[in-house]
Amino acid sequence: MSVWDQVVGQEAAIAPLQAAVAQPAAMTHAWIITGPPGSGRSHAARAFAAALQCLEGGCGTCRACTTAISGAHADVTVLATEKVTISIDEVRDLISTAQSSPSEGRWRVIIVEDADRMTERTSNVLLKSIEEPPPRTVWVLCAPSGEDIAVTIRSRSRKVSLRMPDPEVVARLLIERDGVEPELARQCAYAAQSHIGVARRLARDPAARARRDQVLALATDIRGVGDAVLAAADLVAVAEEDAKAATEERDVEERNALLRTLGADDGGRLPPALRSQVKQLEDDQKRRATRHKRDVMDRAIVDLMSLYRDVAAVHVGAAQPLINESHRGHIEALAARTELADTMRCLDALSTTRDRLASNVAPLLALEAMALALRPRVAA
Ligand SMILES: [Zn+2]
Repeated sequence: MSVWDQVVGQEAAIAPLQAAVAQPAAMTHAWIITGPPGSGRSHAARAFAAALQCLEGGCGTCRACTTAISGAHADVTVLATEKVTISIDEVRDLISTAQSSPSEGRWRVIIVEDADRMTERTSNVLLKSIEEPPPRTVWVLCAPSGEDIAVTIRSRSRKVSLRMPDPEVVARLLIERDGVEPELARQCAYAAQSHIGVARRLARDPAARARRDQVLALATDIRGVGDAVLAAADLVAVAEEDAKAATEERDVEERNALLRTLGADDGGRLPPALRSQVKQLEDDQKRRATRHKRDVMDRAIVDLMSLYRDVAAVHVGAAQPLINESHRGHIEALAARTELADTMRCLDALSTTRDRLASNVAPLLALEAMALALRPRVAA
């Protein structure tokens, strides 16, 4: 399987990247890969890096390919942040790496995931390096859209725009690459609305599917104020648990690694001079947990929106397959006892909730308001 085979449903979009690999003389030193979350931006960036290092243009099996994809290649640097912003120091480090020629590969490739998280000042520092790149250095910036990148950088880069792949294409990837059973693969690809990472998690983890079903059940389970308040509290609790499971182990490892680096891993008291470094790490970890929690809640809302979109599709008699085909019974029942206007009102409420969570409203408050809005309207 070539490295490009895993960048599914993007044949037209990635053609310029493949052409650059084939024609190194015409290389562009800065690329921007855009696309909605889940479209595979960082995957495409890594595939490009692998294809540049591989002697066969991305065979997918040689050492250059596998290490470039996994992020272990000496000449491929990936900055993947889980913080809200990329710091100017992180970018300065990248720039100094960018100045050195490749140690073993053919190119030095620097990938910045979430390049939209750079402040203007940081972008300006990066711009200088992009304007006068060393001959064998290639920058690859990933962002949701071109508008998320400073215009000065944009004008010096080539843009590759990914789109959401068709769910059938995602299903095929799950079947062929991950060995998922076809029926389940389709169900998960549609449920994830083509988000490849989410689709794979759903396919592999029955608990994730069960959690999603639980979220969808809210649409029919919330009858009164009491149900709504409980449902909101449940959602927050699930998100907290999920965040804890995802970050706890790593937090401890990182802390131990830092203590080892500082030479303070003998269990004794930390000298005051080192405390601020540990505190800094703990703050970063806290921010990461918060972000994870918010992502889980956002995903739950996106799932609920997909259910109401299905209800709306039944209302208007649309012919396309439902996103949640396996919930068709519930969806038709909900459509039968509501009107399109009710469904649109619920979709509005969900979209408002997403905005509120993104602007840091206390999650429980935002979700309570959402759950209350999802109650069936009582005839006056
Ligand atoms: Zn290869």
